Amino acid sequence: MDKEHVDFLVIGGGVAGLRAAIELAPHGSVLVVTKDIPTESSTGYAQGGIAVAMSDEDEVGIHYEDTLKAGDGLCREDAVRILVEEGPERIQELISWGAEFDKEGSKLAFTLEAAHSRKRILHAHGDATGKELERVLIGKVRSYPSVKRYAFAIAVELIVSDGRCFGAYVLKNRRVVPILAKATVLATGGGGQIFSITTNPQVATADGMAMAFRAGAVLEDMEFVQFHPTSLYLPAAPHFLLSEAMRGEGGILRNINREPFMKRYHPQAELAPRDVVSRAIISEMVKTKSDHVFLDLTHLGSDFVRRRFPRIYSTCLQYDVDITKDLIPVCPAAHYMMGGVKTDTNGATNIKGLYAAGETACTGIHGANRLASNSLLEGLVFGKRAGSSALKNPVEAPEPELQMPTVAHSIPAHDEIRGRLRRLMWEKVGIIRCESSLTTAKQRLSDWAYILDKTLLTRRELELKNMLQVATIITEAALKRKESVGAHYRSDYPQKGKDWQKHISWRKKI
Ligand SMILES: Cc1cc2nc3c(=O)[nH]c(=O)nc-3n(C[C@H](O)[C@H](O)[C@H](O)COP(=O)(O)OP(=O)(O)OC[C@H]3O[C@@H](n4cnc5c(N)ncnc54)[C@H](O)[C@@H]3O)c2cc1C
Repeated sequence: MDKEHVDFLVIGGGVAGLRAAIELAPHGSVLVVTKDIPTESSTGYAQGGIAVAMSDEDEVGIHYEDTLKAGDGLCREDAVRILVEEGPERIQELISWGAEFDKEGSKLAFTLEAAHSRKRILHAHGDATGKELERVLIGKVRSYPSVKRYAFAIAVELIVSDGRCFGAYVLKNRRVVPILAKATVLATGGGGQIFSITTNPQVATADGMAMAFRAGAVLEDMEFVQFHPTSLYLPAAPHFLLSEAMRGEGGILRNINREPFMKRYHPQAELAPRDVVSRAIISEMVKTKSDHVFLDLTHLGSDFVRRRFPRIYSTCLQYDVDITKDLIPVCPAAHYMMGGVKTDTNGATNIKGLYAAGETACTGIHGANRLASNSLLEGLVFGKRAGSSALKNPVEAPEPELQMPTVAHSIPAHDEIRGRLRRLMWEKVGIIRCESSLTTAKQRLSDWAYILDKTLLTRRELELKNMLQVATIITEAALKRKESVGAHYRSDYPQKGKDWQKHISWRKKI
């Protein structure tokens, strides 16, 4: 049987995977696998920026407090402390590697976003921060001859034996190859594609969470899914994200009768926490019997808007919306998963040799709701920490006997099932949930449970299996949490319950 050996395997090439690879590169051979082209990741699409307490008016203590407040009482405080304290160093390092953040005169320019009490969001080329991060991190990775990168290489399952991870089975050129490593870093991003309306790219199908769960890793906080209030709503267009920074710069939400409404819902109006804004939009949509509201930037000055949001401006123009003159039709969309593979503050999971970082991990930083722009910073800070702890704790055990995944017949109508699953999750497990919607979702998902027992070897089928696995856990977690906390809103339990400060964990019996 063909197999490959490397010292370190990194699954995923977004901010977290690349930062982990940079940490590992001086210490051995590293392989980074990505399931699509190297730049196709949520990281590449990130617009608004990266939160870091570096402006003259800011302090790490204030960033810490804002993060805890957004997390609604469920953040892990030690992890948040690490994020805000190590963040400035990670940004300085990035600048020393060539990152060009926007400036005002000779100083870095910081903007305001929802639920931040200071201007602390660094951005690059206006609204292309993620692209700049990828450019710099990929450049740095390429400077190490010890790092190999495989594109269109899909991790199918982790290789786990006796509670230790030895690498992963990877599908490449239609063949499955076992890739054996002394440590494996899972950095596969989130799972927004589980919902029919999402800002996430096609690669975001929760593969890492599903593989880790099947291998015996603990998942936590899976009921907490963040819905971004403003994605472009046009029948012919994808749900392109309209950055929080547009409201930070003074953008106003109006219902279809052109009335501003956010002040009726929250004293911070457009800058209220994301879950509040998303629910307010849904309420206005219901009241006005419409499937969208508008975001209005027309009063901000066309030169400023074009300069500040060049990518959003040109994308919307492709769909005939001139954001300097027209009201922009918007609706909420699934955006970010706070939960994931449970790790400690060094990225270690409960499986020896398996580390996780970035959106696929649950360090507990985001609690029940993520503070805007904290996730790119999380990828940098905890990608580095996962890399450095992976190299200190290699798995020193005899190679296990390999059990190549045996291929099942393909699933009839799998693309149709994928569409039905995504719509079901949006309608029944979306922004507003209740016992009856969740029970319906659970029943319908169970109709497809046979898919979970199959080993499938095409990308679309594998993704469906992973989406179904994680959708089922999200639904069960949402059913189990009979209260409303952070981004998890139950219309039948609108308040926090008695025992709300718990975390709900999931582990497969193996
Ligand atoms: C449109 C948009 C805008 C955003 N804006 C911001 C922002 O302004 N600020 C902010 O902080 N956050 C923002 N976010 C969130 C943030 O971008 C992500 O949370 C973060 O980039 C996740 O990084 P990651 O490294 O964990 O995963 P990703 O960047 O998503 O990378 C995942 C990688 O894993 C690979 N992969 C997945 N499955 C497999 C598999 N089975 N086998 C092999 N490889 C696999 C993918 O190919 C990809 O390379 C935004 C997200 C989106 C979608």
